[in-house]
Amino acid sequence: MAFASHNSKNGLHASRLDRPLSVNSMKSLASSPTALTPTSTRPKSAAPGSSSVQRRNGTGAQKSGKDDSGVSGRVRVAVRLRPRNAEELAADADFADCVELLPELKRLKLRKNNWDCETYQFDEVLTETASQKRVYEVVAKPVVESVLEGYNGTVMAYGQTGTGKTFTLGRLGEEDCADRGIMVRAMEDILADISPEHDTLTVSYLQLYMETVQDLLAPERDNIAIVEDPKTGDVSLPGTTLVELKDQKSFLELLQTGEANRFASNTKLNTESSRSHALLLVNVKRSAKNKQEKDFVIHNENGNSVHVSKGHRVPTIRKSKLLIVDLAGSERVDKSGSEGHQLEEAKAINLSLTSLGKCINALAENSPHVPTRDSKLTRLLRDSFGGTARTSLIITIGPSPRHRGETSSTILFGQRAMKVENMVKLKEEFDYKSLCRRLEAELDKLIADNERQAQAIFDGEEDMERKLEEAGTRVAEAESKVAAALEVISKEKQRQQKELVEMMQNLQIERAHRERLELELRENVQDLQDKKKIYAENEKHQKEIRDILEQHQQEIKDVQTRLANECGQRERLEKELHEANICLQQSKEILEPENIHKEELSDLKQMLEKECELRQQAERELDAFKREEKKLTNGITEKNDIGEIWVLKKRLEQELLEREKLEDEIKSLKQQLLQVHVDAEERSRTIGKGSSARSSGGSNSTISLHTPSNMKDTINGQRATIAKLFEQVGLQKILSLLESEDVDVRVHAVKVVANLAAEEVNQEKIVEAGGLGSLLTLLQSSEDETIRRVAAGAIANLAMNETNQELIMAQGGIGLLARTADDAEDPQTLRMVAGAIANLCGNDKLQIKLREEGGIRALLGMVRSRHADVLAQVARGIANFAKCESRGAAQGYRTGRSLLIEDGALPWIVANANNEASSIRRHIELALCHLAQHEVNAKDVVSGGALWELIRISRECSREDIRSLAQRTLNASPTFQAELRRLHVTY
Ligand code: ADP
Ligand code: MG
Repeated sequence: MAFASHNSKNGLHASRLDRPLSVNSMKSLASSPTALTPTSTRPKSAAPGSSSVQRRNGTGAQKSGKDDSGVSGRVRVAVRLRPRNAEELAADADFADCVELLPELKRLKLRKNNWDCETYQFDEVLTETASQKRVYEVVAKPVVESVLEGYNGTVMAYGQTGTGKTFTLGRLGEEDCADRGIMVRAMEDILADISPEHDTLTVSYLQLYMETVQDLLAPERDNIAIVEDPKTGDVSLPGTTLVELKDQKSFLELLQTGEANRFASNTKLNTESSRSHALLLVNVKRSAKNKQEKDFVIHNENGNSVHVSKGHRVPTIRKSKLLIVDLAGSERVDKSGSEGHQLEEAKAINLSLTSLGKCINALAENSPHVPTRDSKLTRLLRDSFGGTARTSLIITIGPSPRHRGETSSTILFGQRAMKVENMVKLKEEFDYKSLCRRLEAELDKLIADNERQAQAIFDGEEDMERKLEEAGTRVAEAESKVAAALEVISKEKQRQQKELVEMMQNLQIERAHRERLELELRENVQDLQDKKKIYAENEKHQKEIRDILEQHQQEIKDVQTRLANECGQRERLEKELHEANICLQQSKEILEPENIHKEELSDLKQMLEKECELRQQAERELDAFKREEKKLTNGITEKNDIGEIWVLKKRLEQELLEREKLEDEIKSLKQQLLQVHVDAEERSRTIGKGSSARSSGGSNSTISLHTPSNMKDTINGQRATIAKLFEQVGLQKILSLLESEDVDVRVHAVKVVANLAAEEVNQEKIVEAGGLGSLLTLLQSSEDETIRRVAAGAIANLAMNETNQELIMAQGGIGLLARTADDAEDPQTLRMVAGAIANLCGNDKLQIKLREEGGIRALLGMVRSRHADVLAQVARGIANFAKCESRGAAQGYRTGRSLLIEDGALPWIVANANNEASSIRRHIELALCHLAQHEVNAKDVVSGGALWELIRISRECSREDIRSLAQRTLNASPTFQAELRRLHVTY
């Protein structure tokens, strides 16, 4: 079979990519098992009218082909009934139409006679009222859509002349747009779908008459040859005008031109247009630009596919054709013999149509031979019937019973055509031209690039060699430099390491030295301060001594003056007495003779009385002098007779001697003081050169009267001198001077005793000699502040000794100290008293008595003096007391609340626990720890706010022993722990 054999050839072409089309209505056909072998066994289409007829129910086509030999697609046939025309309305007015349409059932009834009719099934049945639009959509639109997707398509009208073929296909609808025929509407759809940039649309318009093909767009070409490609079987009409269309307007013009040319041509040839076939050929060429391009694959000799160009996708192109054929009238020529044609001519006129009928019959009957080549029409339509195109046939019929025969044959033609099965295929090809162009451009670019790169490589190699050489030289240089540098660095490193080690050693030595120096400096500073105090004290003493001396000298001077006056007076009186005696002698001599005159005697008596008076006056004056002398010599009580002057003189001389002795002593003291100065200066000079170990003052340290304990060494010499001096005088005498009426003597004496008491070696002697009693008496009775201060200091020093402490207590010392503490305002006095009480506080045995006799109260009372030295002593006393209490509690002989707390010491302790002065703070911290150690005090500690101080001490105290004591205390006390928990303090 000619039609099919071409198709099988197509499949052999490597580049041919015909793909099957599947439309909704063709699903059952597409799955036909015979679809793959169209050449040998053509499948029987479903019989018209049978229930298995698939109807097209959509407008879109789908690609779901499984085989590139295509899928079967039956020729679709619709029947259209023309309404009665004016003539028929008039002529056949009494007759019923020869056909009856049942559009719902897609059936047509053809009346045989009044009582008999035949029913035919069609794909579509279009009544006389069917609109042009509906006809287009039902008959042509699916085909047009297939064409746009790359399949060939044919729309053909068949029917008797005058039944509306041209009306259906070719109406331009210029007057009424609703009249537009299939051609116009199809072109509208095609133009709307294609892309002017990528797609091409060309149109040819031809006429076939008497087996001659004429170009209706170039009517002079009236014998166009039909050429078949032997390989593909594709039919072409070389020389035909191909008009490329861009818009609908030009298409309408083309149709008009074609129609005009057809009319002119028919007039010229004296032919009838109803006898010619008009063919509109639309070529659609679409590049698959937007669709996925395919791998470029060729088949080698063995039939294996080979990917030729990896990375290059071969563009594809789809070339489809739409053929719209307005056939010549299907009525028999002999019937229209009146037109004057000869039979042969008539046969020639109808050859193509007859031949078409035969081919369709053959195809419908699946005949092995289809006489395609018998006529030009069948050659042109070879793809439309039994080929790869999607074909839709519309048969037009008239209603007139007069043409019943023609109508019947038209219906039968349609029925047969419905049996024709096509194998629709996608007309897709590789677009080798465009691929080739692209590849060539790429190749050219690559060649140019390659050339440039080759040159660049050549240039680069030379440059590289040169650079390599240079680099080599530089590397060698650099290496030698690096080696030299490394050597230098290693030497330098060794040297530096050595230096570093030395420096570290030096640093350590320096550090040790510095630490030592710092320590010494601190000590020296302290020494210096202490010395300053000593100097001040010394100066004060010197001044006091100088004042006493001056006073004494003045007194001696006064006494001497008075003595001189008295002597003068006495001499004068003696002289007068002598004269008076002489006078008395002379009077006696005169009286003896008789011429003694009474008047002279009276005169003499008066003179004597006068003399007596003068003498009495002198005696009174002498008495006055004597009293004054007595007053001056203080305690010199001699007899009142006139001869006492000598005694007085004697005493004066003695006194002078005593003064001289005192002056010598003063001189000696001055010398000693000078020596002290020299020693001190010597020490000052040696500060920084050496250090003297200094015992730190603990809570039980002695209180020094004038000098701090750390200056003992310095003042030992002085004290030794004093001790030596007074050894000569005798301790007893010194102590007796404490009771001297002369306040200055007492002051002097008490200072000496205090200095002696500072020495432990003297303390026992002083106490044995009754010095403690004297000192206590002084403290009690003296109104002089200095005496009280110095005495208190002396007692404080004596109170260092435990035996003395008991003696002091026994002799009511605490009471006296308490009274002094209450009365005194001078901070130094308070310091001494506080120091004395503080020392007593450190005695376990005396605690109760000390407290009972107001010791603690007195101690706390002294805090009114805000002097740091006083406070430090108070703090020391409290600490000593607390420590003793703590010791007592630990040893079990003390129970109950702290006496310190009882006496109200806690608020002051809390207030001063963080005192700036370390001498105060240290004692208080210790005292607080001791108090807090005992659970019996814990509540007071908490309520008094001391807990916080205890926490602070446990965290901040610089002394580790106190810090750990505080920590232990906090941890041990359930009261504290409970309180800490209550306050959410994590300790
Ligand atoms: P054909 O091409 O088959 O010879 P035409 O298309 O020339 O027939 O139609 C013949 C006449 O009938 C025309 O005047 C046409 O206008 C008219 N005609 C055909 N079909 C219809 C129709 N469906 N409705 C109205 N008039 C029609
Ligand atoms: Mg016509």
